[in-house]
Amino acid sequence: MSTDITTLYIDGAWSAAAAGGTRTITCPADGTEVGVVSEATTADTERAIAAAKRSFESRVWADVPAAERGDLLLAVAAALVERKEEFARAEALDTGKRLVEARIDMDDIAACFRYFGKIADQHPGRLVDAGDPTVLSRVVREPVGVCGMITPWNFPLLQAAWKVAPALATGNSFVLKPAELTPHTSILLLDVLDGLGLPAGVGNLVLGDGAEVGAPLSTHPDVDLVSFTGGLVTGRRIAETAATGIKKVALELGGKNPNVVFADADYEAALDNALNAGFLDSGLVCSAGARLIVQDSIAERFVDDLVARAEGIVMGGPFDEAAQTGPLISAAHLEKVTEHVRRGVEAGARLRTGGHRGGPEHEAGFFFAPTVLDRCDAENPAVIEEGFGPVITVETFSTEEEAIAIANHTEYGLAGAVWTSDRGTAHRVSRRLRHGTIWINDYHPYLPQAEWGGFKMSGVGRELGASGLEEYTEAKHIYENTEPAVSGWFPRTH
Ligand code: NAD
Repeated sequence: MSTDITTLYIDGAWSAAAAGGTRTITCPADGTEVGVVSEATTADTERAIAAAKRSFESRVWADVPAAERGDLLLAVAAALVERKEEFARAEALDTGKRLVEARIDMDDIAACFRYFGKIADQHPGRLVDAGDPTVLSRVVREPVGVCGMITPWNFPLLQAAWKVAPALATGNSFVLKPAELTPHTSILLLDVLDGLGLPAGVGNLVLGDGAEVGAPLSTHPDVDLVSFTGGLVTGRRIAETAATGIKKVALELGGKNPNVVFADADYEAALDNALNAGFLDSGLVCSAGARLIVQDSIAERFVDDLVARAEGIVMGGPFDEAAQTGPLISAAHLEKVTEHVRRGVEAGARLRTGGHRGGPEHEAGFFFAPTVLDRCDAENPAVIEEGFGPVITVETFSTEEEAIAIANHTEYGLAGAVWTSDRGTAHRVSRRLRHGTIWINDYHPYLPQAEWGGFKMSGVGRELGASGLEEYTEAKHIYENTEPAVSGWFPRTH
């Protein structure tokens, strides 16, 4: 079957899916068609893996000096700045998120490429003291090889950038499989890499369904590392299948992130950021502060104010300048969040606001009203399970120990915040929270220079920072005896 839709990028060329499949992408804010892209099958992924393997074995990229690989990443960052509006619009249309947020994402993505571009040649390995002057011992970092990358729909290009930039910096070849609903900025990224002359086969893009197109990246013997960002259930399946081939696995999964507010916190800042933590981008952030844990002496007033402010949040599509937050991603997702709230209420939580569809495009878009559930106990499913929507659950505490215990009462461990004017409290609590990122008197900022990742079921490995670069390397010990001599273990007998 032939088609003129050629949005797969394999072995340095744009191509159609082998079976001729296509998928229509629509904007979740209003259902309008955004574009038609190739829908690959396993055969396309296998072709991409073969291309990546050939390019890696040829050393066409791995042997490029690290500083020059870094230069390419800096050029990607420059292209992202130059084409920011085009990228931001594409991201906003695919995800339905507001254009202003998509623009911030593009700035963050450029910063990520810039960071890894600058440090590409700064991790050459190290000399090791062997305790013997005739021995030269060093540990060098080698690229892992063929990297499979599977990314979600909430920050489509940002999550891809966190993988692509360090993988290229360290000389790997990759096959990227973005979420099937949000492919356009990944297509644009490969367009940039193609224009900058990345050698054929080093960067490959396959598009389509997770089980069909993504799964081979965790099962194929020629993939050396699979790096996945997405939900817990999918991540577990990928880890299980990757284990059969003893493949390296990096997982960035979900979170159920505590936002702990002490009574002595700056009230207005804590309140404002509780909204920001839970409702920014409709809560579609893996590190969203979906669990508000507030000291009982201020809880009633704080929650009343939170509810009043939540009711004033304006929802709208990507180009609605009055909008403060956007839609969910799909009808299925809307159903999932609705059910999440329903189960929370059924288990005893009190619905203070929201819990239903909302927004101006009520009919056409997948909007869900900002929702607050209070009087939640620790075992309420709305507290325990990642809802991945604009839903804040409220728990209360009286002592610091209790706050820590509640905040750690989750199988996840991605991020959390503590709000207090007492720096001693802030530091004691932040050290005790078992989460990968802790904010003190803030919510959401992250830095490309600082590691990002999860404790417990929020994942395995780290992205960003020096560890994010190391993730794409293997350590190799090279031991050189500069004065070869007979060892004498097996003496010559004749
Ligand atoms: P998802 O797990 O449904 O899908 C993620 C990706 O996996 C998609 O590309 C999908 O096509 C693919 N996939 C699905 N089944 C697969 C399979 N069997 N084999 C291989 N690939 C498969 O997640 P989602 O709904 O797209 O994203 C939301 C989730 O991502 C949330 O849980 C969120 O917390 C998490 N997330 C985490 C981070 C982080 O940094 N920790 C960042 C963003 C999102």
